[in-house]
Amino acid sequence: MRPPAGRPLPAAPLVDPFQRAITYLRISVTDRCDLRCVYCMSDDMTFLPKRDLLTLEELDRLCGVFIDRGVRKLRITGGEPLVRRDIMHLFRRLSRHLDSGALSELTLTTNGTQLARYADALASLGVKRINVSLDTLDPEKFRAITRRGDLSVVLDGLRAAREAGIKVKINAVALRGVNEDEIADMIAWAHGDGMDMTLIEVMPLGEIEGDRTDQFLPLSVARARLESRYTLTPLPDRTGGPARYVRVEETGGRLGFITPLTHNFCESCNRVRLTCTGQLYMCLGQEDAADLRAALRASPDDALVTEAVIEAISRKPKGHDFVIERARPAAVPRHMSVTGG
Ligand code: SAM
Ligand code: SF4
Repeated sequence: MRPPAGRPLPAAPLVDPFQRAITYLRISVTDRCDLRCVYCMSDDMTFLPKRDLLTLEELDRLCGVFIDRGVRKLRITGGEPLVRRDIMHLFRRLSRHLDSGALSELTLTTNGTQLARYADALASLGVKRINVSLDTLDPEKFRAITRRGDLSVVLDGLRAAREAGIKVKINAVALRGVNEDEIADMIAWAHGDGMDMTLIEVMPLGEIEGDRTDQFLPLSVARARLESRYTLTPLPDRTGGPARYVRVEETGGRLGFITPLTHNFCESCNRVRLTCTGQLYMCLGQEDAADLRAALRASPDDALVTEAVIEAISRKPKGHDFVIERARPAAVPRHMSVTGG
């Protein structure tokens, strides 16, 4: 169908060499965080100098380029996105694409510590669903996993989000010997409060103190245990990502399993990831990245950066290459907090 007279033809959408349409961009807006989860960061992380980060204006501009090329969903992540100064300015800017209909979803992955403060503003800017990472409901374990967090602050944040009308999904990393006995109860809690829940396997991303093979709990094991308490009915729901979903018949809620190490999900991959310094990673599990910051700063016109984006997508690999046994040192040297979850 032709667009109405006077309207330019839409730019060609981003399609990679394996005919996968790229419609989903994850943006890490900071590598910093107020927590230090044991599987994600070391205790004494060195963060990037602030001058290396894209400004909020640059992030907005870059998102605009992707949206012009057919990206329909943005997920803001980090580090902890809500600790970046003036982050609501970026949400305010991006929400205009929701108003215009160019974007179908603007969402967020957060540790929840700042939600009590920001939930109302996020809801008013069109954020309808968020992911909140929470691995335990035991305050002491929470402090141990995050090395400093206060569980009650996150629970207050969750309440604020729900009261603001935002739908919450809880993401929990399954950790051997840490929260494995709690998973079934957490599902009952989350579903009881109307929240979906997703379990994530530990991925070998970035150097941490200790050994991830100790933390690794295969979700096949977690799932088999859950099946002694719950009836899990597979759902056809697919997001283009690594999650597989089931309905928990006893609670009526939805449960996801993200198993990047034991499952291959690459054939339906619809996403790319932007770091806070403007590196575009075409695959979470591979090192190849395109430097969009240089293109962005080289010219105030978007032509150059658009060209860089198209060129980068033409390099998107067919699949990733994680193996937990090779995770010492980390199989992929950058931390999840750099590329975002
Ligand atoms: N700070 C925010 C949060 O915690 O939700 C957003 C960024 S965090 C890097 C995104 C997600 O990645 C979280 O759900 C976290 O549990 C997960 N994550 C971090 N490191 C991981 C790892 N090595 N393996 C698996 N998941 C990891
Ligand atoms: Fe921070 Fe999220 Fe990493 Fe935890 S998982 S240290 S909250 S970035």
